[in-house]
Amino acid sequence: MRIFKITSLTVMALVTATVVMAQKPRIRIVATGGTIAGVSASATSSAYGAGQVGIQTLIEAVPQVKDIADVSGEQLVNIGSQDMNDEVWLKLARRVNDLLNKEGYDGVLITHGTDTMEETAYFLSLTVHSDKPVVLVGAMRPSTAISADGPANLYNGVCTLVDPSSKGHGVMACMNNELFEAKALVKTHTTDCAAFKGGLYGEMGYVYNGRPYFLHTPVAKQGMTSAFNVDNVTALPKVGIVYGYANCSPLPMQAFVNAGFDGIVLAGVGDGNFYKDVFDVALKAQNGGIQIVRSSRVPFGPTNLNGEVDDARYHFVASLNLNPQKARILLMLALTKTRDWQTIQQYFNEY
Ligand code: GLU
Repeated sequence: MRIFKITSLTVMALVTATVVMAQKPRIRIVATGGTIAGVSASATSSAYGAGQVGIQTLIEAVPQVKDIADVSGEQLVNIGSQDMNDEVWLKLARRVNDLLNKEGYDGVLITHGTDTMEETAYFLSLTVHSDKPVVLVGAMRPSTAISADGPANLYNGVCTLVDPSSKGHGVMACMNNELFEAKALVKTHTTDCAAFKGGLYGEMGYVYNGRPYFLHTPVAKQGMTSAFNVDNVTALPKVGIVYGYANCSPLPMQAFVNAGFDGIVLAGVGDGNFYKDVFDVALKAQNGGIQIVRSSRVPFGPTNLNGEVDDARYHFVASLNLNPQKARILLMLALTKTRDWQTIQQYFNEY
């Protein structure tokens, strides 16, 4: 009798262990549109419309993901990412937080257009509070093109999400077999499949044969260490970007001031320098309570604090390693918490 008891217990334990082992990681795909869901007139045409194919079609195009994960999907929006906006960002951040922290998913894959992928990735890296991985994927060729790159990016993204080594790497993008941390991600080519680079930080890793290999972890604060929370934020502060050039008109800067914007980012020349007429408007704006952040139109290299411009004197903030579009994101989030220029500079130092 005793022998039978041990045997049945053992069988039960074995069955339980087998069930546990057979459970695949639960991955949720949140689709937002972009070229990965784009359709062209023919397989050889370069003209196409972004954001036309639904999430189920995208998943069915890559059935291999079902071998490695329990994959399900939802369609948040279906847009070209040139139409990405604050409302979608707030909705997306809340949804990803819920999926990871309330609904028990092991990772979230976001399909997204490539035009503003870097902005969405950075926004989520500051507003999603989890150690679990979040991966953005897109495509440079529409889903109907010869050699569409979307399916491989999607597969590599899921491979990254299910691998235990991805934990703690925050929000990343997986494009063209490479992995980029959100802060570093930058689109550097309008049409090339190798459009994304990691700027000063380089790529964070790569995917080979269905496995991610990480070269470093993100250095800046994000995810669990981020102080920004948009759970109760209904609208983001208004922040615009002004582009710098020789003989620059001060009109765009003045227009943002007149429209009551809360902050303005300068995509300045060189190390974040102003044209003299623009400087005059910027100084008045800063003195009037509109925070000015200096960034640069130069693709690589930091915009340094107190270099050619005396930030300490004028109370401007230097964007350091953030390009103008990411400096805009951090300034919007910073302005949800404070209007103090020194605290805002501290955020730029840390994030
Ligand atoms: N402009 C579209 C978008 O960003 C298509 C570009 C792309 O996804 O590569 O969604």
